[in-house]
Amino acid sequence: MTTDLNLPAGVEPTPAALLLLGRRSDPDSERGTYCPGDLPAASDPGLVERARAAKAALGDKVFVLGHHYQRSEVIQFADVTGDSFKLARDAESRPDADYIVFCGVHFMAESADILTRDDQHVILPDLAAGCSMADMATADQVAECWDVLTDAGIADVTVPVSYMNCSAAIKAFTGAHGGTICTSSNAERAMRWAFEKGEKILFMPDQHLGRNTAVLKMGLSLEECVLYNPHKPNGGLTTDQLRAAKVILWRGHCSVHGRFTKSAVDEVRERVPGVTVLVHPECQHEVVLAADLVGSTEYIIKTVAEAPAGAKFAVGTELNLVQRLGAEHPDKTIVFLERTVCFCSTMGRIDLPHLVWVLENLVEGTVVNEIRVDPQTARDAKRALDQMLALP
Ligand code: SF4
Repeated sequence: MTTDLNLPAGVEPTPAALLLLGRRSDPDSERGTYCPGDLPAASDPGLVERARAAKAALGDKVFVLGHHYQRSEVIQFADVTGDSFKLARDAESRPDADYIVFCGVHFMAESADILTRDDQHVILPDLAAGCSMADMATADQVAECWDVLTDAGIADVTVPVSYMNCSAAIKAFTGAHGGTICTSSNAERAMRWAFEKGEKILFMPDQHLGRNTAVLKMGLSLEECVLYNPHKPNGGLTTDQLRAAKVILWRGHCSVHGRFTKSAVDEVRERVPGVTVLVHPECQHEVVLAADLVGSTEYIIKTVAEAPAGAKFAVGTELNLVQRLGAEHPDKTIVFLERTVCFCSTMGRIDLPHLVWVLENLVEGTVVNEIRVDPQTARDAKRALDQMLALP
């Protein structure tokens, strides 16, 4: 997997996660952080007008995608909104657009590049917009894990199932080893398909989605799921533990959804009598057990939209989306599940200055921050994505 960073001479890669905007790259993570050129000042009162003018000048040549967790200042310029999978499909549905501006995070832009034509340009307005969960599974770590499974004599009967929220390199590994990608909407179908094909599943990189699906949807016990820690020899597991497991969960999590706690569920039930607790399956198992409803971002939006006036929800997902749900449904009570603020900091890297900078460069004919996945990686990753689309 490669990302077209066009680093100037003298700019060294750095492993630091969050750097001053636009001055370094981080090839060891799924993001890069180098943005060439000068950004408009965030204080510029004309930013909204500049974005409007640039978008109008580009017309149908540009297609702007906005993930549900993006800031409202960005979402207002999105031609479509959605979760990661819907947006990748939306990108695929616009072969006439020269430029796909992806207001989301790095792995999403990679998926869009894999699914769109070679001559379309997929652009991530800030290359620092990565995903900490995707970074928790690197290609080297996954290859090493597969060696561990091979040594234990179980690789032949193990099917990789990888969550959409992983790098193109992990998607490619999954495709090359006969596995499938899944989303939070179809994880159960993906697991059922995998169990028809093999005896065990290697689920990457979100342990919580894997565990919640295995236990709550598939009826497996917690003991049948083991946690593989890529930072420990043999994943921190004995060979007997690996051989006995039905699901090998990668030790990764979402830094946003992983923060919701069972005590927050208890607290909100006292604070808001009659509340329905609605959470995302990336939340910890005990939180999902304590909630009333669990489902993907699209499920959360639909559930709130279809509820009658007066309904009360405590929502456990990213705060930008929860705030927007509150604004869109003033006839309902929508509260955030935790008392503390919980934005996705990397999603938040995409802001109006970056969007204006990208659009104005495109008006000038300059493509900046293009995301390109190398052809071999893209081919293998597409196999895994196509398998997901073919799930029964
Ligand atoms: S909300 Fe979680 S999974 Fe989504 S981009 Fe942010 S860190 Fe990654």
